[in-house]
Amino acid sequence: MGKISINIATGSLLQSDIIVGIDLGTTNSLIAMVKSDTREPIALREIDGLTLVPSVVHFDADGGAEVGNPAKEYLITDPENTIYSAKRLMGKSYKDMYAHKDFFSYNVIDDGTDALVKVQIGDKFYSPVELSSFILKELKKRAEHILKVNVSKAVITVPAYFNDAQRQATRDAGKLAGLDVLRIVNEPTAASLAYGLGMKGHTERTIAVYDLGGGTFDISILTLSDGIFEVLATNGDTYLGGDDMDNAIVTYWKQTYFPTADIAGNKSLGQELRVAAEKAKKALSADSQFTGSVAGVEVTITLEKFNELIQPILDKTLDCCKNALKDASLTADKIDAVVMVGGSTRVPAVKNAVKAFFGRELYDELNPDEVVALGAAVQADILAGNNTDMLLIDVTPLSLGIETMGGLMDVLIPRNSKIPTKAGRQYTTSKDGQSGMRISVFQGERDLVQDNRKLAEFNLTGIPAMPAGLPKVEVTFLLDADGILKVSAKELRSGVSQTIEVKPQYGLTDEQVEDMLLASLTNAKADISTRALVEATTEAQQMIETTEKFLKKYSGALTEEETATTSASLQALHDAIAAKDKNLIQKRTEELNDISRPYAERVMDSALKEAMKGKKVI
Ligand code: AMP
Repeated sequence: MGKISINIATGSLLQSDIIVGIDLGTTNSLIAMVKSDTREPIALREIDGLTLVPSVVHFDADGGAEVGNPAKEYLITDPENTIYSAKRLMGKSYKDMYAHKDFFSYNVIDDGTDALVKVQIGDKFYSPVELSSFILKELKKRAEHILKVNVSKAVITVPAYFNDAQRQATRDAGKLAGLDVLRIVNEPTAASLAYGLGMKGHTERTIAVYDLGGGTFDISILTLSDGIFEVLATNGDTYLGGDDMDNAIVTYWKQTYFPTADIAGNKSLGQELRVAAEKAKKALSADSQFTGSVAGVEVTITLEKFNELIQPILDKTLDCCKNALKDASLTADKIDAVVMVGGSTRVPAVKNAVKAFFGRELYDELNPDEVVALGAAVQADILAGNNTDMLLIDVTPLSLGIETMGGLMDVLIPRNSKIPTKAGRQYTTSKDGQSGMRISVFQGERDLVQDNRKLAEFNLTGIPAMPAGLPKVEVTFLLDADGILKVSAKELRSGVSQTIEVKPQYGLTDEQVEDMLLASLTNAKADISTRALVEATTEAQQMIETTEKFLKKYSGALTEEETATTSASLQALHDAIAAKDKNLIQKRTEELNDISRPYAERVMDSALKEAMKGKKVI
């Protein structure tokens, strides 16, 4: 897991800017801000009192889009044109989603033009970024309506396990919605911030954030020390949540009250059961029994029965907690604070199970649906310069660098560097008159780029003709606070330059990062000797090239013996390179150097004399 941290520092934006915090959720989204008078974070509320906007987009026949509650109505009547859970598709390829394609009632496709997944509505294709931007646009519109000012700056939250591609996709969705996304913040970090954890003066703490929503479960273990939040481990189940509790009730009622009904063939009965089940679940968060009516039949369930039905779901979440603790090398008694997030943590049995597991009182006073957005608002307030406490810093989990001669990895930003960060280094050409330079960007810890992961490649073109070694190409890496890398290359003598932004198509999972780190350790010895061989070979090849060029140009100036020994020495060096023997290559390179030096000096001397003839030396 990339360690993702938050540090305490001062923001530097204008006081008058309103910056909102946005929780772009799988099921619901909402927007929050810090009240200017009390400095308290609040969720923005419509006149109807609602804060949550269902993350649902419905497209009508003309391609017009509706978002939120009105769109939710179409989930049953027009499922093919109604998009829910777009967040699950962010930064994903069709291959990633193939196993889950039945989860979606709309058409998730691979349009063949790029690796990222799209959604087809009629004859139109939408990327998850566009779909999310519809939701963000709606949130922006609502905020502007409520606050009566233009809202153009936001902090948006993402799950801690989101990779670079998913974070970038979220940022792009914001941009598309007309929002300047100042920070992407981890949801568990935001939830902790909402409770004031992480403010100055707090001693070191270890925090567990238990987030059980409608369809997803996340557990994150964070440490907080000197104002820095660090994600130690995340675990969870992307298909586990309150919906499964509803389904458990539906199954129970089916068996009890409709044992012979064909639910699959009777969609409206299935739907009615589901609606009543959710109502029952919510009622049982306060009462000990629920009675309702489905298709004219009285249905009932006791709290005791409900608790029994959802026990397997609770057990699954606790298993994830165990795994997260294991990954963080901690035990439950080392957790100082447990923060509850997500609508399903209202279920008393959930609270009791979590309390018992960690042996701690819970942070659960804030509305669990709003707590992430409230924390995003706190972060926004910090960025606005109103709160002199915190600023997000991430740490890059793997080294970033470029390919140099012989396929070697030249690291510019080492792993575990705090970001934002900037690094630069100068390179030069290896051939005379070389007009272009290929800049290949890699991520990883191995010495040879072929063992690392390629992020991007571009050509710096238009370098004016110069002898090898003369151009000065400065390569700069700028890694921003969201982990997005900008690579620039500039030839300093001529000023030609080029920049690219690296948006990796596929991010890495925690396991892949771990594997890459492990591979670098197990291969460390082999890598060192490979690097030495590559370096010796590169030097030898340059020596061969220079010598051959010299022989061509000044063949007449050499004695027969000199020509013969040079040829033999060149051949010996070629053989050593072919034999991949580092020591032999170095020995033969030195020999060739010793043979050619005397006549090279002699020739250069006379060439210099020739050039100086008739010229005045001032
Ligand atoms: P979220 O994804 O965080 O918006 O969580 C929504 C989930 O919380 C849905 O499964 C809801 O049914 C559930 N939920 C909302 N209110 C309650 C409540 N009072 N008791 C139990 N579950 C609830």
